[in-house]
This record gives sequence, structure tokens and C-alpha cells, in this order.
Amino acid sequence: MTTRTLLRSGHVISMDPGIGDLPQGDVLVEDGRITAVEPEISADAEALDMSGRIVIPGFVDTHRHTWEAPIRGVAPDATLDDYFVDILDTFAPLYTPDDVYAGNLAGALECLNAGITTLVDWSHINNTPEHPDAAIQGLRESGIRAQYAYGSANTSLAEYWFESTIAIPADDVRRIRSTYFASDDGLLTMGLATRGPGFCVDEVVTAEWAMARELDLPITVHVAMGRLAGRFGMVKQLHGLGLLGPDTTYVHSCHLSGEEWQMVADSGGMISVAPQVELQMGHGWPPVMQALEYGLRPALSVDVVTTVPGDMFTQIRAAFGAERARVNADCWQANMPVPSTMLTVRQMLEAATVNGAHVAGLEDRTGSLTPGKRADVVAIDATAPNVAPVHDAVAAVTLCADVSNVDTVLVDGVIRKRDGRLLGDTARALRLVGESRDRLLAAKEAKKAKAPA
Ligand SMILES: [Zn+2]
Repeated sequence: MTTRTLLRSGHVISMDPGIGDLPQGDVLVEDGRITAVEPEISADAEALDMSGRIVIPGFVDTHRHTWEAPIRGVAPDATLDDYFVDILDTFAPLYTPDDVYAGNLAGALECLNAGITTLVDWSHINNTPEHPDAAIQGLRESGIRAQYAYGSANTSLAEYWFESTIAIPADDVRRIRSTYFASDDGLLTMGLATRGPGFCVDEVVTAEWAMARELDLPITVHVAMGRLAGRFGMVKQLHGLGLLGPDTTYVHSCHLSGEEWQMVADSGGMISVAPQVELQMGHGWPPVMQALEYGLRPALSVDVVTTVPGDMFTQIRAAFGAERARVNADCWQANMPVPSTMLTVRQMLEAATVNGAHVAGLEDRTGSLTPGKRADVVAIDATAPNVAPVHDAVAAVTLCADVSNVDTVLVDGVIRKRDGRLLGDTARALRLVGESRDRLLAAKEAKKAKAPA
């Protein structure tokens, strides 16, 4: 029997150029798939009243270390250099599989609550072979759509991060691929989260890229950020090794040279920008506009909740404000008028939705409200005091709304949030992530007590 849900009478922003915006529109979902987006649909279906709501495709977060949910807000004033020491060298080695499970479950529920229906989980916390299984279990139980990107262990900075000679264990990547991802059609898919040139020696880089391609895994790598990696010339190095390709996402990319931008564009690469982190922690300017200028389709990401908020509204506004600030400052310096081609809020909503699906390798099934795609749908309450009255629905979503206005969330046609309330056992996830926080803090203190003065 076909299960039908009809989202009725919302202001639909489809992000599908063939459909456009429907000031009053219906979205029909059948067996988890969008089958029609039209001004009015009559169907024998469970009806969800969307009047007073703005209906959009779910947001896509293209890069988050979801395991960090138990240490949310622990490093508020950190720079990127501080973060390497305070998080990756201090907390990461203490993580047990239980901490990773709690972090991924609570972190993914946090995403759903905020209207993020697809997540690229950059999981460089594989301290033992039990860790990846725990991470995947947390994602799976949440009901989110995710690309699980298998990363390195995080046992110490010295071993794993600078000129590292230790590769991601190929046997275990193969085990995870065959155990959980025999098909690429599921709610969870797989990628490889690699460190790249400058962080690893060339032999490791080459081996990891080869493994990803042998196993048909998309690659995601941090490049061109901060004081150190900003000067590595990572894309140029990858080009020199003959490794650039359309399967690779370059995260941050703040300090790419013009030559490197062209190399990314020519090779069909993809860009994930984490604006709040980049502005706040010293990675560099969020390069949304640069990516667009090279014909790329930049997407957005949260990256680390140790230091920034975990929602996409923040990311949209950070990138939008930063880009305009940069252009305005340059024009002030040159005593020139600002150009008429400044970044727009619609471009930001594209970055947060359909470009995100492109970067996550999932544009065939999510990112827009298009018949044939899976039903990943979010409704924003446009009657709330911070959103009403609405003049421009895209502005309402990108500049007015926040997490408190995320009213309804569907993933793969399943209702995960309704009337502003997350469904499922959120209390258990919050209890587990709280216990994980306590355990990690105790382990940190114990390690400090043992360390030589
Ligand atoms: Zn990151």
C-alpha cells in the first residue's frame, strides 16, 4: 500500500529552476518520494497544513565533526591553532566508542531540529575499530541522511597531523564499506575523510587517494586554511601528484591561489565553506563568492560545535555578511562604488540546500523539491514574531528565521519534527551526551594529573 503525505498550502521555495517558487503550493510525498509540487494537488493523503509556513528543501551541512557534540562550546575563544591542541590533542584521544555514539546521535538530532536533513559526518575519531561502528550506529538511529566520511584515528597530533606517515587503515575502511555500505542507495552513504599534503607525507596521500578511488568513495579534505595549512599549497601539491578529480570536496579553501582555484574548477572539484569557523578562528575569509566566480557551486558547513553554533542560519548569515564586508572594505579603500554583482540571499539559500546536495554527492535524491527526489522537506513558521510579516520568502528564511522557527522536518518522507517538536527519544540522546561530557572531562583531568609537571 502506498503511503501518501500532502504538505498543503505552504509558500514553497522549491530550489528547482523548473518549478521555482509557489506563493501557495502543495507538495505530495508518496512512499518517501516527492511525486508532485504544484499550486494545488488533490490526493487521498495524510494532510499536513502548511499555511503560514515557508516550505523549503532540507538544509545540507557538508562538513561537520559530529563526534564533537559532547564537547559543545568547550573552546569558545579558540583559534585554529588552539583547536589543534585543545580538541584534537586533548579530547580526541580520550574518546571511547560510547562517546562517539552519543556524539553522533545527539549531533544528528541537533541537525534535524535545525532543519538540516543531510549531513557529511567528517569522522576523524577512529581510535579503535569499534569507533566507526559506533559513529554509524548513532547516525542510523537518528534517521538523518548522511555521508559517513571515514577518517583517521586521533591519538596524538604529532603522529597523525604533521608529516604523518600513518595511513587510514585500508582493511578497516574495506570492512566498513562492505558491512554497512554495500549499496550506495541507502539513507547513509560513505566517503573518505583524508588529511592531505602537508599533514601527511606524499606516500600516505597517494595511498589514501588510491584507496578511495578503488572503493569508489568520495574524498573530503581540509585545504588552505589558517596560518599553517594556508601556506601548504595543498591543491597544487595534489595536482603535482596527479590526484585532483571531480570526486573531491575541498573544505575551507580560504587561501587558495588563483591558479589553485582554476585547478579545482578544471578538475570538477567541489567546495565546502564553513563561514562562522573561518571568520572566528582565523582560517581566512569564507570564499563563497570566489567559488562562484570560478563557476563552482559552493556549499556550507558547520564544522565544529566546540566553537560555533550548529545551525545553517548562522552559516548563511556569516558568509553573507562577511562577503559584503570584504567588498565594502575594498571599495572604501579604493574609493570606488560597490559593484552591482554582490552576493545575494538566494545564492546563499542555494549554497545551503541544492549546492550542498551536489557536494555531498546526493543531488540525485535531495537538495530541491523536485518530483522524483526523496522527500527531505523543512517548513519554517512564518507567523513567528521574528519572521512575520513576510515580504520576500527567501529573505525570511535566510535573514529572519532561526532554529526556533523550524516547525516541521521530513527526511526520506518520514516526519522527524512536527509543530516545532522533535519526535523520537531526544531525552535519551541528551542524557547520553551529557554522560559523555562528564566522562571526557574526568578523563582529561586524570590525564593532566598523570602528566609530568
Ligand atoms: Zn573540519
